[in-house]
Amino acid sequence: MPDGTRIGRAVVIGAGVAGLTAARVLADHVETVTVVERDTLPSGPAPRPGVPQAHHVHALLALGAEVMEGYFPGLRAELERAGAPVWDWGERLCAVLPGGTPAPLRMGMPIQTFSRPLLEHVLRRRVAELKPVTVVDGATVTSLRTAGPGRVTGVRVTGGDGEEEIGADLVVDASGRSSHLPRWLVGLGLPSPRTTVVDARIGYASRTYTYPEGQSPPSWMGLLQPLRAPAFPKGCYAIQIEDDTLHVTLHGGGGTELPRDEDEFLAYARSLRSPIGDTIASLTPASPVRRYARTLNSRTAYHRLPRWPHGLIALGDAVCAFNPAYGQGMTVAALEARLLDRTLRRRGAFLDGHAFQRALARVTAFPWLMATIPDRAWERSGTARAVGAANWFMNRLIDTVPHDPRAYTTFSRLFHMTGSPAALLDPRLLSRVLAGSRRRSTTDMPSFG
Ligand SMILES: Cc1cc2nc3c(=O)[nH]c(=O)nc-3n(C[C@H](O)[C@H](O)[C@H](O)COP(=O)(O)OP(=O)(O)OC[C@H]3O[C@@H](n4cnc5c(N)ncnc54)[C@H](O)[C@@H]3O)c2cc1C
Repeated sequence: MPDGTRIGRAVVIGAGVAGLTAARVLADHVETVTVVERDTLPSGPAPRPGVPQAHHVHALLALGAEVMEGYFPGLRAELERAGAPVWDWGERLCAVLPGGTPAPLRMGMPIQTFSRPLLEHVLRRRVAELKPVTVVDGATVTSLRTAGPGRVTGVRVTGGDGEEEIGADLVVDASGRSSHLPRWLVGLGLPSPRTTVVDARIGYASRTYTYPEGQSPPSWMGLLQPLRAPAFPKGCYAIQIEDDTLHVTLHGGGGTELPRDEDEFLAYARSLRSPIGDTIASLTPASPVRRYARTLNSRTAYHRLPRWPHGLIALGDAVCAFNPAYGQGMTVAALEARLLDRTLRRRGAFLDGHAFQRALARVTAFPWLMATIPDRAWERSGTARAVGAANWFMNRLIDTVPHDPRAYTTFSRLFHMTGSPAALLDPRLLSRVLAGSRRRSTTDMPSFG
């Protein structure tokens, strides 16, 4: 029974990465937690309709992996047993940057690569084992249950058993980019929250490959060729994952047409400067080509609404979704779950949902800048001078990376969110970056492994 300082019942809308990590945290603070998921959940690591992005490369940044490991002790080992490799980012990443490819450099930054369905499967199993948690799948939340405009008291759900209501002291919206929360809040008499969108019109096309008998995998474990507006509109990501599989995502910015079929996929890969075209030409395709185009950055300013109902919070992509090219979404979801944990530790049943949304806005602020500063360069309208200057600096830093191990390490830590942006103010690094690289771009590909 609730003792007055603990929340009695919580409902989480959505069993994606944000919903599952939030449920994990809630299990420490709440008597019963019900996760409601509209998909029928697979019993193994398999894609599902509600998470179409699972067909595309999903990299968990170093900080996200660290935070998740804290909440799911042994997660890394469990993923490793399922075949997910662990490798050093600097040593085994082939980064095909506009200014060249940095030579391998041991950074002491272990990275683990796996498919999104595998990660979700392991998280789902671990969450379902928690005593306070029940996962209800094949059930769609259709609206909030309320007691007047100021208090949310649960959700209404449709599913196999028809319509039902699930009562809750706290409802957590983790329903992703397709969240209906703005509409639900308007229904409660609140003004429509403002959503900021920055759309670099980036498209993804992905497929997986296996290695034919007798053929070794590439010497690199991950390959990335990032985009840069407007000169570099095509690029790719590739990672070695479980089941001796290579997962390849080709991407293009500013509305670049992405491949639709096998021939176009190979032709696109071959048109890139990176070795991906030659690599996949000799591998065995293990999936069809799948495309995805809903990659815009969007951030809903719930924290700026004049009022907020008691008993409600929102997190994950439902509040702030990023262009996936920067690999931030799952890591930010983990940081938001950590924020929820810390808030519940302090406030328990006295959780102030509006104050939580304000704190969440502070968590998303820096990742939002990291994603939207380069993405605004794809937008046709002119960008603010400060954004242009920040973009110029970041591009200059990236151009220094292939020729300067210090810049490579600093940039990698920033990318993986384990390093502070203050590291950019190191005078030695600043002078290298501001002076610009005097070396010409190299086309030589270092060997890895
Ligand atoms: C193409 C692509 C590639 C990506 N690559 C990366 C990457 O490399 N690294 C990274 O960290 N992130 C990546 N992301 C982002 C990442 O997928 C998300 O940020 C992360 O999964 C957190 O999302 P979420 O849990 O908030 O939402 P989702 O993962 O979208 O989950 C929402 C869940 O809610 C369910 N749902 C929706 N509505 C309802 C309802 N009404 N009732 C019940 N259930 C409902 C859905 O079925 C779904 O299961 C990528 C995204 C895309 C689009």
